[in-house]
Amino acid sequence: MTDGPESLPAPAPPVTKEFWAATAQGQLLLKRCLDCDSVIWYPRVICPHCSSLRTEWFAASGRGRIYSYTVNHRGEGAYQDCAPFVLAYVELEEGPRIMTNITGAEGDALAVGLPVEVVFSDTGAGSALPRFRPAPG
Ligand SMILES: [Zn+2]
Repeated sequence: MTDGPESLPAPAPPVTKEFWAATAQGQLLLKRCLDCDSVIWYPRVICPHCSSLRTEWFAASGRGRIYSYTVNHRGEGAYQDCAPFVLAYVELEEGPRIMTNITGAEGDALAVGLPVEVVFSDTGAGSALPRFRPAPG
């Protein structure tokens, strides 16, 4: 039991500041655990595999494969006027599976296992959303 909020550390959020700053430069960063060598997704302070706090950022290749996907025909909120769009899990070469969008291809051109590469959509707020498109070749 703690005495009060001042007895616990209060790191300044967001812990993902470096991740988002890199996206604005067209780079996808991942974290690696320095104790168990796991690649960590989503970015966070603690390794979810061994609880180590010793992690480091590294530049991902930006390449992966579609692990799963669906074509949404009805969007809501900011996505209301852009249907149909593709929501997918992409398995990165480094291992993590990340939820994202696939752009630049119709749904019938997609398949589980299709090679994809990262592209970035500028948010207009100093960051960019990583999305993926079919890889050339
Ligand atoms: Zn670890």
